[in-house]
Amino acid sequence: MTQEQRTPSQEDLDTVSRQLGRPARDIVEIGARCVCGNPLVATTAPRLSSGIPFPTTYYLTHPVITSAVSRLEAAGEMVTMNERLETDQELQAAQLAAHQQYIAVRDAIGLRSGVGAVPEIEGVSAGAMPARVKCLHVMVGHSLAAGPGVNALGDETLGKISQWWTAKVCACAGAWDTESPVPEQDRSRHVRTQAGDPEAKRRERAAKRAAKEAQQQQ
Ligand SMILES: [Zn+2]
Repeated sequence: MTQEQRTPSQEDLDTVSRQLGRPARDIVEIGARCVCGNPLVATTAPRLSSGIPFPTTYYLTHPVITSAVSRLEAAGEMVTMNERLETDQELQAAQLAAHQQYIAVRDAIGLRSGVGAVPEIEGVSAGAMPARVKCLHVMVGHSLAAGPGVNALGDETLGKISQWWTAKVCACAGAWDTESPVPEQDRSRHVRTQAGDPEAKRRERAAKRAAKEAQQQQ
């Protein structure tokens, strides 16, 4: 995808919030899109706005893909994959390459989003790569964002969910609630965040000052 395609519009962020059923937070890019343009994968910067390091860059947002992958997980797919990872050297090499690509791309996202380097998570990718698989959603999110040939287990998982979802066919209709209001930021959290934010305090003081001055002028 081009940078223009990756840049999230307000509509994209609203769609992601609807897909997840909760407010989309700290999303800096859209990692992959449906053929119709809707987000499939949300990209989070390697450091959240709260300052917390965040290793998992790609998050599957499309409910049809998410539930198809959950079905495979529930059927024990990861057990088999982890057994294969113990002995299959070709697969081990593929996962090591995927792990390295993940970190390189995440570093690049950190740079373009203005977050910069995040030393706390240096050398750590996501989903227990490269030695194990802890989350198939992470693998598939990576595969969709990177395209085929980068994350072997993600590609393989996509092949296995093809009866429910494939890249060529839009499965968005009816997949999430488009009628209810967009889920919004929890208010209590919002207030708490602002309370500790020096910039918000500064604005608050400035507003009080302006109000006082306005009163004095009357
Ligand atoms: Zn679609």
